[in-house]
Amino acid sequence: MRLANVQLQDGQKLVIDSDGDYRHLDFDLDLLSLVRAGIDPQDLAVGAAATGDLVAPLQPGKIVAIGLNYLDHIRESRLPQPEQPLVFAKFPSSVIGPNDEIVVDAGLTTQVDWEVELGAVVGRRMRNVAVDTALDYVFGYTVGNDVSARDVQFSESQWTRGKSFDTFCPIGPIVVTPDEIPDPQALALRTRVNGELMQDSSTADLIFDCPTIIRHLSQYLALEVGDVVLTGTPEGVALSGRFPYLRPGDVVRIEIEGLGAQRQLMTGAGAPAGSGPAA
Ligand code: ZN
Repeated sequence: MRLANVQLQDGQKLVIDSDGDYRHLDFDLDLLSLVRAGIDPQDLAVGAAATGDLVAPLQPGKIVAIGLNYLDHIRESRLPQPEQPLVFAKFPSSVIGPNDEIVVDAGLTTQVDWEVELGAVVGRRMRNVAVDTALDYVFGYTVGNDVSARDVQFSESQWTRGKSFDTFCPIGPIVVTPDEIPDPQALALRTRVNGELMQDSSTADLIFDCPTIIRHLSQYLALEVGDVVLTGTPEGVALSGRFPYLRPGDVVRIEIEGLGAQRQLMTGAGAPAGSGPAA
């Protein structure tokens, strides 16, 4: 099933993507509430056509990301290949909807980069799971853009700040359950900036595949319901030096086969002092 959230006046509501038409399901809350309740969406009746804007399909408790997980991206980054999955965090406050704006203060960074990534959404709490059962804990798969401020990222030994600016984690548009994604290691991923193809690869090229990443992480930390694991990006980012970094007015469009596409306009306005995060 292809599930999403729309924003209505009285909150976010679960919808199903049925051949590009979003329809309500017989459930009053959002997608994460459904996953937490352990309800099988197959059991819900499909209702009326949905109105309202698509928002992020969920607000994760945490976002665990894997760096340098495609050989061609390691080469373009001129960084050594990790011997085990390279783990970093993106703070959940960086999450935005799939088609929201990436808002950047040019006084804080001038090297904003895109990264299309396969994301796995955790469906059941897990700790120390085996490789061969790891995918049983995945609720579904989604698209993530691991937006990165390279100047900030490489100005210090921890990547968290450069990866966690507000608006730096567009997720969605949908979460697709595993019955429709039998092999998450065989999906085409693409990024276009202003229509020009930048990234064009396949998750078949992942160095550490989804089960291996999940197994690895779960040895050290509990993966909770609704957490999102981002699996790394292939070559074709601006860090390579082949393309300019994003500027205000640029449009990023990323897509993964079977999981849909997202589109962000980058804008240059800074967050007003004292304001909260975008809703
Ligand atoms: Zn990444």
